[in-house]
Amino acid sequence: MSITRHNLSKDEIIAIYNKPLMELLYDAATVHRAHHDPNVVQISTLVSIKTGGCSEDCGYCPQAKRYQTSIDSNDLMSVEEVREKALDAKSNGSSRVCMGAAWRNVKDGQEFDQVLEMVRTINKMDMEVCCTLGMITENQAQRLSEAGLYAYNHNLDTSEEYYKKVISTRGFEDRLQTIDNVRKTNITVCSGGIIGMGESIEDRAGMLVALSTLVPQPESTPINALVPVAGTPLQEEKLVEIWEMIRMVATTRIVLPETQVRLSAGRVNMSREGQAMCFLAGANSIFSGDKLLTTPNNDANEDAKMFEVLGLKNQQPFAKVQQRESIGAEDSKFAALGEKPKWSRPGHTIERNLELSTKGK
Ligand code: SF4
Repeated sequence: MSITRHNLSKDEIIAIYNKPLMELLYDAATVHRAHHDPNVVQISTLVSIKTGGCSEDCGYCPQAKRYQTSIDSNDLMSVEEVREKALDAKSNGSSRVCMGAAWRNVKDGQEFDQVLEMVRTINKMDMEVCCTLGMITENQAQRLSEAGLYAYNHNLDTSEEYYKKVISTRGFEDRLQTIDNVRKTNITVCSGGIIGMGESIEDRAGMLVALSTLVPQPESTPINALVPVAGTPLQEEKLVEIWEMIRMVATTRIVLPETQVRLSAGRVNMSREGQAMCFLAGANSIFSGDKLLTTPNNDANEDAKMFEVLGLKNQQPFAKVQQRESIGAEDSKFAALGEKPKWSRPGHTIERNLELSTKGK
């Protein structure tokens, strides 16, 4: 069995990424088989519980209110709406529901309490429940943990150096701080990134260095290919070639041997054959549903056919980490602290972000 290393250098990771493709695939598939069943893939569903209106300036994101995009903004869903979406997801074979809210950071109050209730509801449906809500404090992570949260997603997105060219409203160190806050609980960590934002191979390797040096490494790493959206600063970026995606998935698999590697945004532009090569390279999760937050995604029936053709089986919920108990709000040991943490606002200039910004919509 390959050993998990926390000290791989950027040069070592670049050397892996640049191997002849057949050799890279063989190495990644070997690591994959040593740690995972290569015929099992998890289906997850992403539900956008609060869409748009976000104060941040992430250059790839149509939910930032400063960019003029065609998405419909929505306030926080009700617990009942989320329960119905989770039921649908379960009946379509999903074992995990990830709830995304377009917030810079979580604020204590009625909306967060509502999210905690959503977490309890989905956990009681015997599905893995994940949240991606922006930056959170240790106290908020503890409250999510008590509610039965299985995973918290907080992507590093790219290397520390390139992060500054995509986002100016918060710093890379804030991402690491939130991951650290989550790690103080029993919630598993989901953190990955996006390729195709104009970054170099060095940046891709830099992100993997940052993920691989975390102890323990994230239990889950989504690899997204940018879906350029009109109105966002990255609208002109070229679509990621399948070969780059395969290389990134394979390298991630080798660098993070035990992690669940997730094919995320951009799968809609991949052929069935391309996806099959990603599974061979070590991807072991896909997102189901016609939308991934706001961008298009693959048809669930097409996915079912692909599973049949490739002989893939659905991963059952809690196959990797045990289900948590959900503690009711009335029995909580953690009171809301109403903290106002000083998350950074670097505010440096990113020309393309400024160009596309308006006074809001
Ligand atoms: S990626 Fe998240 S934080 Fe950034 S603009 Fe979009 S919703 Fe806001």
